[in-house]
Amino acid sequence: MLKQADRERGAVLWFTGLSGSGKTTIAHQVEEQLLDAGVPVEILDGDVVRENLSKGLGFSEEDRNTNIRRIAFVAHLLQRNGVFVITAAISPYKAIRDEARDMIKDFVEIYADAPLEVCEGRDVKGLYAKARAGEIKGFTGIDDPYEAPENPEVTCKTDSESVEESAQKVIDKLIEMKFLTEA
Ligand code: ADP
Repeated sequence: MLKQADRERGAVLWFTGLSGSGKTTIAHQVEEQLLDAGVPVEILDGDVVRENLSKGLGFSEEDRNTNIRRIAFVAHLLQRNGVFVITAAISPYKAIRDEARDMIKDFVEIYADAPLEVCEGRDVKGLYAKARAGEIKGFTGIDDPYEAPENPEVTCKTDSESVEESAQKVIDKLIEMKFLTEA
């Protein structure tokens, strides 16, 4: 049986990766396991945040950074009150992810790693096709950079692992980092 190691201390599970790399899918699988363990969880999904907290922001570097700073700020507020917060936004720039890490500290960076061809082949939301057709400008991986993390706590190779395997890696890391214990 899993349980939260310290009720006063949550964690931020910061997913990063290309669109279609599997962030949201793994996030929901991890959420389910944490809820089963009685751990308070909130997901800050990139698409949902952009419809609400960051509505009106675009995809310039400045707007992307503002979006990420907002996510980091809210994640930190919840985390310091014992919540496990899962963020699932592309968060393509290393510097701003590192800024979030420095602020939050109880920070677990999870790289959803799949080659661009695989993500584009999945094209879950049809966005790559639009980006290739020039209907979306500044799309990460096509005409805007993605800076892969150098030392993420977890790397999920979503082109070769199952969703369950990827989620289990995250849970195992939370145990190793003593955010969770096995009773
Ligand atoms: P993102 O949130 O990164 O944009 P999604 O989670 O929405 O990506 O989409 C990822 C797609 O890849 C889903 O259709 C999912 O079923 C598929 N997939 C295949 N293998 C995996 C895996 N190991 N982990 C996560 N997703 C996977």
